[in-house]
Amino acid sequence: MQVDVLNANELKKTAPVFGQLSFDDHEQVVFCNDKDTGLKAIISIHSTVLGPALGGTRMWNYANEWEALNDALRLSRGMTFKSAITGLNLGGGKAVIIGDSKTQKTHELMRRFGEFVHSLSGKYITAEDIGMETRDMDTVREVTPYVTGISESKGGAGNPSPITAYGVFMGMKAAAKYKYGSDDLEGKKVMVQGIGHVGEALVEHLSNEGAQIFISDINLPKLEEVSKKYGAKIYTDDIYSADVDIYAPCALGASINDETIGRIKASIIAGAANNQLADEVRHGNILKDKGIVYAPDFLINAGGIINVYAELEGYDKKEIIRKTENIYNTTLEILKMAESSGITSHNAALKIAQQRIDDRKKKNLN
Ligand code: NAD
Repeated sequence: MQVDVLNANELKKTAPVFGQLSFDDHEQVVFCNDKDTGLKAIISIHSTVLGPALGGTRMWNYANEWEALNDALRLSRGMTFKSAITGLNLGGGKAVIIGDSKTQKTHELMRRFGEFVHSLSGKYITAEDIGMETRDMDTVREVTPYVTGISESKGGAGNPSPITAYGVFMGMKAAAKYKYGSDDLEGKKVMVQGIGHVGEALVEHLSNEGAQIFISDINLPKLEEVSKKYGAKIYTDDIYSADVDIYAPCALGASINDETIGRIKASIIAGAANNQLADEVRHGNILKDKGIVYAPDFLINAGGIINVYAELEGYDKKEIIRKTENIYNTTLEILKMAESSGITSHNAALKIAQQRIDDRKKKNLN
């Protein structure tokens, strides 16, 4: 269950933190308040079994604190599984800052936030998410080393979006190999929903491959620009019922929900958005029953975290690309495993990730 589909009253009915719907045995949740700068933030650490909990900071104008808390809980859990399935020695964490990033984000507020991150002594490492820019991470870096996604000029790995897009492209090709017997996307009709940082870079890969690209976004000037640049067709009708082979959600989460799932005609879903399935179990099962191949989001959009992990481990661009290309093999392996075990691909990916965490836990105990 996701926060997107809950209303404030439903959230309030449950107990403060441990009783939240998105609570999943999180290790630590930290509420940060600073009167002088107006900072109100929540840092959620889901797991540190595999390593420090790394995950971005999201600044969003949440309707209420319950929504912010549930978002932090849900997103940090997602990070645990993303890093585990990708083979990184990282746990899962996420931070949310309550407020409008366009009007309320100041240098002082970001520094204060950085001090709170620092107070956790490296148990949580932050990065960019929605509402954050590389320069904000540079500000956080002024007060703590526990931050990634800083500028290349300051020793960081720079913008992760092109790498995320490359990983999504690899996952999509693996899904095509599984479904059609070939990973060649030439001539395949692909609908890209959301042509922001990741979506546009994905369109470029698809264009180089000779796919027939359809694009949808709420930003009309951007649609015109990307259409002209890559020869993609702008699609304004209901995208779910569009007659395409592949649907790539690259905008917001929960786009596969009760309203949309019955209309989806694509035979593959592979995109960058986090938490694409509004209900992981129910919607995962419906896709499976309909024979739609779903490339798990947290697996194929891991390029970004591979990129920022390089800052911690000191590996270079070549290694980033190698690790990101490996998303192809993992996706194929998971789709085959899901089929042979009769479970959803999402569930298969979760199982493998959980196994890695359990193994490490056992090892740590010995
Ligand atoms: P972005 O903000 O640059 O782009 C999102 C795009 O979606 C924007 O162009 C926006 O106008 C469009 N959009 C919003 N609502 C829409 C709607 N209803 N229909 C169609 N288009 C809509 O974000 P991004 O960095 O490209 O990330 C895209 C998705 O991928 C997000 O869900 C993000 O959480 C996820 N993701 C991104 C990264 C990364 O490295 N940037 C990594 C992992 C996951």
